[in-house]
Amino acid sequence: MKDVPTINVDRGPIPFSERIYLGPIVKGLAVTLRHFLRNLFGHRDVATIQYPEVKRQYSERLRGRHILTTKEDGSLRCVACFMCETACPADCITIVAEEDPEATVEWEKKAALYEIDLLRCVFCGYCVDACPKEAIIMSRQHEMAFGAREEAVVGIDELRQKGPIEDQDLGYRPYF
Ligand code: SF4
Ligand code: SF4
Repeated sequence: MKDVPTINVDRGPIPFSERIYLGPIVKGLAVTLRHFLRNLFGHRDVATIQYPEVKRQYSERLRGRHILTTKEDGSLRCVACFMCETACPADCITIVAEEDPEATVEWEKKAALYEIDLLRCVFCGYCVDACPKEAIIMSRQHEMAFGAREEAVVGIDELRQKGPIEDQDLGYRPYF
């Protein structure tokens, strides 16, 4: 076996002040105190804001709560193709399809039921990407509070586009 030389490192005695960590503790407290005073007296470079009175303007690609878009006559663009439900990794979309009596083609379907469980949703946007009709897009609405578990399961009434598309707080959507 090869003889491996041993190297002894003499670290020298550790001073008492280092052993009790007094210097780093004082330094840490000074940093905390500096930030506290800076926040207290409202310097302009403070990162926090007075939420909810003050809100940040988020990107137009923010993936917030979904919108089911509508046609000019107010009906949903969704043709119940199940692409979004299939693509959803959280398995939180439930669709029940039915024949569309207003359809211009014989086989067109519409959603009799369209639900998203917002507490299971991970806001990945895969449903939006999968939709061939741009029937589901995302808004920038990300403040969601629910008083009961079942309130988090939202249906067509809650998801339906309300008013002209340009008045929606639009977030992530295809081709944008
Ligand atoms: S955003 Fe993602 S997790 Fe949420 S419903 Fe769409 S595909 Fe499912
Ligand atoms: S992918 Fe689009 S058209 Fe198909 S079911 Fe989902 S929302 Fe409706």
